[in-house]
Amino acid sequence: MLKQKKGVNRFAAAAAASRQPIYVENSLNSEYPTRLNFYLKPPPAEITIEELELFALDRLQVLKAIENAALRNKRGADFNRDIDQVLEKHLPLKSNLSRSPNLFEERRKDHISHFILRLAYCRSEESRAWFLRQECLLFKHRFEQETLEDKKAFLASLNLNWKVLTSKEKERIQEQLEQCSTWLAVKHQTTTRTFVQNETFFEVDFEKVPDLLSRRHVYVTRGKAYIPITEQISLVMEEFRNRLSQALEATAKALPRMEEDDRLKPILLNVEKQYMGKTYGDTDESTGTVKAADVNTLVEKYAPLCMQHLNQALHRDHHLRHGGRMQYGLFLKAIGLSIDEALVFWRTLFSNITDDKFQKEYAYNIRHNYGLEGKRVSYAPYSCMKIIQGNPPSTGDHHGCPFKHFSQTNLEARLHKNGISQQHISEITNLVRDRHYQVACTRYFEVTHPEHTDKVEVIEHPNQYYEMSRNLQAS
Ligand code: SF4
Repeated sequence: MLKQKKGVNRFAAAAAASRQPIYVENSLNSEYPTRLNFYLKPPPAEITIEELELFALDRLQVLKAIENAALRNKRGADFNRDIDQVLEKHLPLKSNLSRSPNLFEERRKDHISHFILRLAYCRSEESRAWFLRQECLLFKHRFEQETLEDKKAFLASLNLNWKVLTSKEKERIQEQLEQCSTWLAVKHQTTTRTFVQNETFFEVDFEKVPDLLSRRHVYVTRGKAYIPITEQISLVMEEFRNRLSQALEATAKALPRMEEDDRLKPILLNVEKQYMGKTYGDTDESTGTVKAADVNTLVEKYAPLCMQHLNQALHRDHHLRHGGRMQYGLFLKAIGLSIDEALVFWRTLFSNITDDKFQKEYAYNIRHNYGLEGKRVSYAPYSCMKIIQGNPPSTGDHHGCPFKHFSQTNLEARLHKNGISQQHISEITNLVRDRHYQVACTRYFEVTHPEHTDKVEVIEHPNQYYEMSRNLQAS
């Protein structure tokens, strides 16, 4: 699949559209009749190493922009405008109507870049969930913009086996269909009877439309759901999500074998690192080695609320449960606390226990996190996504994300205590109510760092927050 040099694969030749129009036209029709793609087949081309990385990084820009727009709660025209700008720059994908000479190359790039990122982001559950979420939004965006004719051609090519109801079948359940179509009739400013009479309905297995079911928007009987064609997007998205989710699981299993190719592995690791941003796994010498005695001041000054909360609980209780020790300990490791200083830090704070108990029950785990025990893996600090989606704290636990896991009253009290104005508290709690936890944290950062002038990226990692805060002070 891989070629070391540029210009040696058969599709590189096809790229010269103006020179070989007939060949390209044929490839376009057979490989990519429309710009929509479920990515069921691997790219049919040989790929150069240069293209591999370049394409993947371009697609990553698009997925990150999608994540940002979604986290910032952009919808409709706002969302489309943001995404179209980035797509135009990094991953243009014109429709057949455009008659662009670059259609084949654009679709090939889209196809290849999807597969490279699939390989790069299949490694952990967290990466798979992230990739799946962004790819679904990207597909939905493209599907909605596609012409009706190309949508039909694309869906027909998938052989989805959706049964269209005949008029007789529709008449038999007319009453039930009407009962479930009130909201659509209102939307289309017509009566339910007229709506159902004029609408095409599909019969599908009910598991295929969980979102419509949860909104009670479809008629279900004997394991079958009856979907109006106007709600087709729900069905398409469910198919896309299921297939990609299964493909990611399969890719994760095959990955060790694929990484035996020593040209592929460094590229995948580099691409994966781009999403995670900076690697926060190792002690960061650039910010100076942090001493145990400095931790309290540094955390109170620069760390996000989740880490401040853990720090304060530790000072108050002289103890943290396992979840808290992992979340906080790995964060501290990544801000520059060496293993020796970490042992001093935790021993000093766990002041209610004997040396013997500390050595037996806690020192091993601390050394383990630094890769000095057990499998000798140096563990990376938790990202926001991992913290937010991980085990929620129960009574006596202090790990987690305050924006996600605090009650509204507790969060408001905490923000108030940190000097946040009532207006900003309302703004932040509104974001939390809409489940935009990371955006709420970003807004908190903006409010508590009025000296920042650049646009603040959405906070994705507690160590990113810490570094941004420290850098602002240094500048
Ligand atoms: S969003 Fe991330 S950095 Fe902010 S408080 Fe939650 S987990 Fe911590």
